[in-house]
Amino acid sequence: MLQSTYHSLSRNMVDQQLRRRGIRDQGVLSAMGRVPRHLFVSHVDPRDAYSDRALPTSQGQTISQPYMVAMMTELLRVTPGLRVLEVGTGSGYQTAVLAHMGAQVVSIERSEELAQQASRAIDEQGWSDRVKIVEGDGTLGWPRGGPYDRVIVTAGAPRLPRAYQEQLADRGRVVIPIGDSETQHIYLFERASDRWVETRSIGCKFVPLVGQDGWPDA
Ligand code: SAM
Repeated sequence: MLQSTYHSLSRNMVDQQLRRRGIRDQGVLSAMGRVPRHLFVSHVDPRDAYSDRALPTSQGQTISQPYMVAMMTELLRVTPGLRVLEVGTGSGYQTAVLAHMGAQVVSIERSEELAQQASRAIDEQGWSDRVKIVEGDGTLGWPRGGPYDRVIVTAGAPRLPRAYQEQLADRGRVVIPIGDSETQHIYLFERASDRWVETRSIGCKFVPLVGQDGWPDA
């Protein structure tokens, strides 16, 4: 795709799907205007990559709708230099948005194939100095990369896994979809020393978070 075409598609996506629905974080808007989403879903028509919906990736998984990526990232409050744990790398698109915002990202994916594809896409974008993609069960976090300032989970969980509470730094934030296996709500957990504040946000529908502290493997 011509650079000018993808620039206009992503500009349009940011204006129509994000700004219009109330996304205000300039870091999020700028990152999503610049990260070439079509390169993370190479199996679909490049124009569809910018459409207002989730798209299939290989392995029966999905890349989230642009608005959902923006809304969750805004809730996370990312600033340059923060250490972010992402669970559910998928295509690597959300990872690239976080990297573009200056975060140091550890991203965990349980599918070996998706982890490898996402690593290649991230390398090609030149983000490998601030992103580490690992294969494994993200419900256990990744203790050796912690403590994290932020945790973002992009698969639907039955509850908040214990590991995220243990691996989160003071003043940290966790953004995670929680509910049953069909529908969930986005939750924000904020930590202030031993005090936790929980806020429920919009409804959503994610693929399940499968693992030791998530849903059992079907
Ligand atoms: N953030 C992704 C993107 O931008 O493309 C979309 C993620 S997709 C909705 C959810 C991903 O979570 C899937 O790729 C799935 O394999 C992964 N997943 C599910 N359970 C997991 C677990 N316990 N640990 C790591 N990844 C998991």
